[in-house]
Amino acid sequence: MTPPKDPSNPIFQVDYLQHPVSDEHLREVLSRVAQALQTNLEVTSGDRDQALAVGGGIRSLHLKHRAADFHQPPLTDGAVFQRIQDLASSIFASSEAYELIHHGPFTETTGPHVHLGHYPQDAHPPGVYCKIEGLTAADRGKYKVIRVVHVDATGQAS
Ligand SMILES: [Zn+2]
Repeated sequence: MTPPKDPSNPIFQVDYLQHPVSDEHLREVLSRVAQALQTNLEVTSGDRDQALAVGGGIRSLHLKHRAADFHQPPLTDGAVFQRIQDLASSIFASSEAYELIHHGPFTETTGPHVHLGHYPQDAHPPGVYCKIEGLTAADRGKYKVIRVVHVDATGQAS
């Protein structure tokens, strides 16, 4: 059976598990991630208040209610991070800027996960800013941009 292409009729679910994600565009993107990778997506953190700030510090997009942390079992976080980049053209809007982070086993945050944030308008030029943090002990707390994926208006990624 061929999965339906209609994004209003998704077959893979985003399970928010009582973690609100206020950014409407980000919720749509998370659903596109689930469809593109063909696995349900389990959110482990969304909107955060200042008092709950952990990792990422005061500039975290979670505090702006524009980020979500998640896993997509049975895929590993590393596989999710890579496949989102590979399938960027079917996930992201060409006009928006995003932050995609793979927090590894040595993360300064509460545990390994994939993070996806939606930057406010004009914060950065459009693109998917792909970062790694805590993949090794030496990288703990260091956010390194490994590439920026650009999606053009015709849906091509580079
Ligand atoms: Zn996060």
